Parts: sequence; C-alpha cells; structure tokens
Amino acid sequence: MQCALHSYRDSDAIGIATMNANKRYPHLFEPLDLGFTQIKNRIVMGSMHTGLEDLEDTEAQAVYFAERARAGVGMIITGGTCINQQSLVVGGEHEVFDSAADVPRHRKVTDRVRSAAPDCKLCLQILHAGSLARTPDLVAPSAIKSPISPLTPREMTEEDIESTINDFVNTACLAREAGYAGVEVIGSAGYLISTFLVAQTNQREDRWGGSYGNRMRFPLTVMRRIREAVGADFIVMYRIAAMDMLQGGSSREELITLAQALEQIGVDIISCHFTWHQSSVPTIATRVPRAAFTRVTATIRDEINIPMITSNRINMPAVAEQVLAQGHADLVSMGRPFLADPEFVQKAMAGREDEINTCIACNQACLDHGMMGQRVSCLVNPRACYELELNFKPIIHAKRIAVVGAGPAGLAFAVTAAERGNTVTLFEASSEIGGHFNLAKRIPGKEEFHETIRYYSRQLELQAVDLRLNHWVSADELVDGGWDEIVVATGVAARTPDIDGIEHPMVMSYVEAILGERTIGKRVAIVGAGGIGFDVAELVSHKGVSASLDIDVFAREWGIDFSNHPRGGVTGVEPVIERADREIYLLQRKPTSMGRSLGKTTGWAHKLSLKRKGVHMINAVEYQRIDDAGLSVLIAGETVTLDVDTVIICAGQKSNQTLFEALQGRVPGLHLIGGADVALEIDAKHAIRQGCELAAAI
Ligand code: FAD
Ligand code: NAP
Ligand code: SF4
Repeated sequence: MQCALHSYRDSDAIGIATMNANKRYPHLFEPLDLGFTQIKNRIVMGSMHTGLEDLEDTEAQAVYFAERARAGVGMIITGGTCINQQSLVVGGEHEVFDSAADVPRHRKVTDRVRSAAPDCKLCLQILHAGSLARTPDLVAPSAIKSPISPLTPREMTEEDIESTINDFVNTACLAREAGYAGVEVIGSAGYLISTFLVAQTNQREDRWGGSYGNRMRFPLTVMRRIREAVGADFIVMYRIAAMDMLQGGSSREELITLAQALEQIGVDIISCHFTWHQSSVPTIATRVPRAAFTRVTATIRDEINIPMITSNRINMPAVAEQVLAQGHADLVSMGRPFLADPEFVQKAMAGREDEINTCIACNQACLDHGMMGQRVSCLVNPRACYELELNFKPIIHAKRIAVVGAGPAGLAFAVTAAERGNTVTLFEASSEIGGHFNLAKRIPGKEEFHETIRYYSRQLELQAVDLRLNHWVSADELVDGGWDEIVVATGVAARTPDIDGIEHPMVMSYVEAILGERTIGKRVAIVGAGGIGFDVAELVSHKGVSASLDIDVFAREWGIDFSNHPRGGVTGVEPVIERADREIYLLQRKPTSMGRSLGKTTGWAHKLSLKRKGVHMINAVEYQRIDDAGLSVLIAGETVTLDVDTVIICAGQKSNQTLFEALQGRVPGLHLIGGADVALEIDAKHAIRQGCELAAAI
C-alpha cells in the first residue's frame, strides 16, 4: 500500500515536472516519433570515447551510462566502436565489436541502461578510422596520408571494400543482438567513410571514385546494407560532416545530395559533425561561441524530411531550446555537458537550471585526456567516468569543518563535504568566491568560467555552507574554533622573479593587469609564457567584442563563411586578422617551443590566434634588466633591449602556506589542498579533484 502511494507520488511529481518543462522548453521536451519507436525528448548525449570502453569489464561503462539515462536523456550514443582490427583508432583491444563473443560485454551495458530508464535509447556508434587508424595495415580509398597521421594507408582493393562493408553490417547486427536501440555510423572527421566522399582523399578511377555519385557509393552501400540487415525497427543514423572545414572539402550541394540519398535508403536520422580532425578551425573549444555551428545543420535540414541532430558548444538548456525553436535541428546533441553534469536533463525539467554544473569547454580533463590515452573525466566534475571509484556517501557522524579559501579547491571541498552531511564554514578573504577563477573569467574567450562560479555559488546555498566573505582567517581564530577538521585551501600567489629592476614602475603583476588596476601601455613585455602568460597576451592583444560571444566575429577571425558555405565552409575564405593595437612580446626562458604547457586540443588555437594578432613569441631568453629603456634580455648570446613601457609578470606561482604552517601541531585534522598544497603546474582540474577526493574521504 505504502509502495503504491510512493509510486503514485513519484509519477505525479514527474508528470508535473514534465508539464512545467514543456512550458519552459516546449521544443526540448517534445517527444520525437520515428514511426516504429519514439524518442522521449530531443536531448541526445553525443558520442564520446572515454577510455571506459577499453576495460575488460564493462561495469564502469554501464554505471556511467545508466546514471545519465536515469536522469532523463532521450538518446545516448556510445563512444566509437570499431568494426574490425584494421579500423582501430588507437590500439584498444575492446573497442572492436566484431564477434558474437563480445555480445555479453555489451549486454551488460544495454541491460543496465534499460533497467535505469527503459525509454532511453542507447545506440552504438560504429567507426572505421581509415587513414587515421593506428594499425600497421591501414587502408583508405586512396594511398593518401592524413596530415595528422604518421602512417600512409594502402589503397583498398575491391575485396577490401566488400569485406569492410560486410564488417560494418556485422557490427550493426551484433549491436542489435546486444540490445542497443540503434547504431550511428560515423561518416565524418577524416575517418574512412568521409575520405571516400572528398575528392582530395579519394582519387580512385573505379566505381568508388571520380564523380560525386561514385564517391557516395561507399557510404550509401554501407548504410543500405545495414538497413536491410537490421530490419525496419532499429534506429539507423548517419553522422555527416556538415561542414568539414577543409580547403576543397565538401560543398553544400554535395552534402544535400548525400543527405537526400541517405533518406531514400531508409536512414532514420542524420546527425551533424563539423570539421575533420586535421582542420585548423576550432569547433568546440571555449573560444567558440555557443551553438555557433547549428545554422549549418539547418541548411541541410531544410532539404530533407528525416530528423537531424545538431551539436557543438551547446551547454545549457536555454541554448538547446533556442536551437530547436529556430528550426536549426530536430534534436540537440551534447557530449561534454553530460560529463560535467549527469543530471543536466533532470535539472532542466525541474526548473533548476542554476544548479547545472556547466561544461566550460576547457577540454582539460576530457579531450586532452583522450588525446593522451588517459581515462576521460571532467575538470568541473571529477566523478565523471569515475562513478565506481569516487562517491560521496552520507556520513554517519557529522563533523564541524572549517575551510579556508573559496577558490576552486575550497569550493569543491566545501560543497561536497556539506552534501555528505557535514557542517561546513567557508572563510574567504575577498568579497567574492572563485579565487583565481575570477581572473580567468575576465580573459576574452574564457567567459564560460563565470558558470563554474555561478554553480558553486548556488551549491553553497543549497548545501547550507556558512560562507564568510571578507574574512581573512588567522591561525589563532581557527585554533580557538574547536573544529573537527580544518581544510586549508589558501591557493597561490604570483611569483616575483629576481630580475634586476623588478621594482621599476613599469612592472606589474598579472593580477593587476587582468583586474585593470594599472594602465597598460602600447609596448608590452610578458615575462613567462605558461597558461597565464598566454591568457594575458590574449587580454592585451584583444580589441572589440570577444569572438566567443559573437558568431560573426568568430567566423571572420577563423575564416569561415557560414552564409555561402563554400567547399568545406572555408575554401578561399581568408581569416580577417585584427592585429593588436600594441606591440607585445611573450617571453620564456626555456628553449622548448612556446605554448607547450597549454592544452593538447586547445593550445594550438590559442597560439595561432596570438600569432595572427602579431604577438612576438620568443623562447630561450635570459632576463637581464628592466629600466627606463625597457626590458633587456639575452637572446642567443646577444643583449636585446625590448623598447617596452609595460612589463607584466606571469612567472608562475608559489603556494600560500603561511596559515597551514602556523596551524601545524596546534589542531587535529589539518589538511592542505589545491594550489596551497602544490603550486607548480596546479590548475583547476587538480584543485577541484583534490577537493572532492578529500571530501569523499573525510
Ligand atoms: P585560488 O584560486 O588561489 O583560491 C584561493 C582562495 O583563498 C582565494 O580566493 C584567496 O582569497 C583565499 N585565501 C587565501 N588566504 C586566505 C585566508 N587566510 N583567509 C581567507 N581566505 C584566504 N586553471 C585551469 O585549470 N584552466 C584554466 O584555463 C585556467 N585559466 C586561468 C587563467 C588565469 C588568468 C588565472 C589567473 C588562472 C587560471 N587557472 C586556470 C588557474 C586556476 O585558476 C588555479 O589553478 C585555481 O584557481 C587554484 O585553485 P585554489 O582553490 O587552489 O586557489
Ligand atoms: P606556469 O604554467 O607554470 O608558467 C609559468 C611561466 O613562468 C613559465 O613560462 C616559466 O617558463 C616562467 N617562469 C617560471 N619561473 C620563472 C622565473 N623565476 N623567472 C621568470 N620566468 C619564470 O604557470 P602559470 O602560467 O602561472 O599558470 C598557473 C597554472 O594555471 C598552471 O597550472 C596552468 O596550467 C594553469 N592555467 C591553465 C590555463 C589553460 O588554458 N589551460 C590557462 C591559465 C592557467 P620559463 O621558466 O621557461 O621562463
Ligand atoms: Fe567540459 Fe572542461 Fe569538463 Fe571537458 S573537462 S567536460 S570541456 S568542463
């Protein structure tokens, strides 16, 4: 009886939440009818390789997907799964799904998702890496090396082509057997299928090359045979390179022709990908405006009658709703936002958008990890892909905990410890929370960092953390406080290097420069080219509207023509270079190339953007002196005086440990986290993870 009442209340609550969500997001929460099945809302968790696929035991993957499914995602697409050994992107053993023996591993995942949310459609992405494969016998339509691969593929024979098509079909059938609701075949990114479509990578003279009709033959045959083999009641999707960002890439007319042909052979949904991996246009980094590419999807959608999924830099429900309301697509795919917050959909439905832990598109713990062969996670949510290892269980005996410092480390600890049931007081010396993130968010292109501070601000309220702003806490005060635990998260302070003339009035710290506390002149030297040096260079070289806030400015800066869609979206379009109004020198002592410490997947764009603005990047310098003549440095044994009127110091950090040292031996349960613990190479990813891990353990 009690159970019945509970379930009545639950379903009633869900019903009300859905009604309200439908009012707020009428497009996002509208079901999509595919005829043989229905997708309950328009929200797709897009394909992301996480590294969990490589584990022998699929338990971690099952739990990871089930959490997202339970929280209301309409459709989930797995990371790319290869069809045979030859198709592997990296040497991961378990990413290949080519045998019935693999079905039980996959069943574990599909069963778990189904029991978490019977109406969530879990689909398998199918992949052949082609010329981007890392196997000795890699194949492609023509023997043309990808600029981002060290290996040259061999040209596929007719037999290769036939057997590869069979392998695609085989994996699709196995997916059905394993309980997936459908498959998405990736026809983009520079992987095998896409290289058949583009003339520069397909120079065959047989029926698989030449005219566009011939170049389409491979993808269309794959899709037609999959459709025939899996039957009509299984979702079949094709991922199209809707704008491949290649000079001489696909034209809009070709893409429409392909999309119409896919529709005719019975593909259910076309999902959009933008760019090939080799392109030098950023498409998902934080410097890309939100939903910048969805308009491209619209140009194809207008010409076909099957639903389209769009994607890229859609990270909040209102953005997704707007994309759908504008008619750009039928479904919205988000990947990283589901790493950042598995409960994204649930929170949107319940009108709790301010509780969403927003993906800030930094790529630091997701794509950068993937690139380095590490397990993917998330800077703002270190539990992502660690669902089995990192859990925040309710505590039995609540503790009184003092946390000092409301930077990322202190915030992560405070809200997590409070969520577990502890009584937490958070002391912050300044008038706002966020620590160094308050500087980061002021850098053009890093506006998303505001969201993390907004998220923590709301969590502090929800978890009833006692926040004491403008409170510089002393050791004596803490000793007298009778705390069960004290967590010192006092962060980092800028290092002042020992350079002759460092006291000169033209010298300022990065903090002063970013906060605008001092006037920055027209000729600037930046001492130190780590993450902060590069960010300061971005700030001082910037003028006008931030490209990350304006799609037209972004398009001009990167040479994209969204309205006319020349081949690849970029052919013949020159980036409009806005040179900085200042003469800027970005300096480092190391002889290594500049920007090495930047993110693997974002650093190249940062560097390229600064180069285009005319920032001089000089490595292997030795600082000699700062005086009225400027900054003198030794370069290749010769003294060069840079005629600058401003020197901004970005020479790294040192830990603020004074408080910790003063507390040692005087209180029980003393902990040190974040930059206060380790300053060298500390970043928010480490700071937040350390805060969460301590909160889980305390
Ligand atoms: P902090 O952020 O330094 O916070 C410490 C807090 O403690 C401060 O708010 C301080 O006021 C407070 N405090 C200190 N002493 C006391 C006391 N006695 N009583 C009360 N309060 C006290 N990292 C990334 O991962 N990715 C990026 O893209 C990135 N970009 C950046 C861009 C810029 C311009 C800057 C400056 C930093 C950037 N960082 C980035 C670095 C990142 O911000 C830091 O690694 C992170 O903030 C460190 O977190 P923390 O909590 O350890 O310390
Ligand atoms: P950093 O990355 O360690 O860079 C410090 C720079 O200062 C280096 O270029 C270093 O190079 C130079 N330096 C060090 N000691 C010096 C000295 N005594 N005199 C002169 N130069 C010196 O530190 P940061 O730039 O302060 O960044 C702090 C943290 O925030 C880092 O972990 C960084 O990753 C993170 N962050 C990340 C991003 C991002 O986009 N991902 C952005 C900003 C910050 P040389 O020794 O060769 O001169
Ligand atoms: Fe988003 Fe950064 Fe998290 Fe990746 S690491 S999911 S980009 S917030």
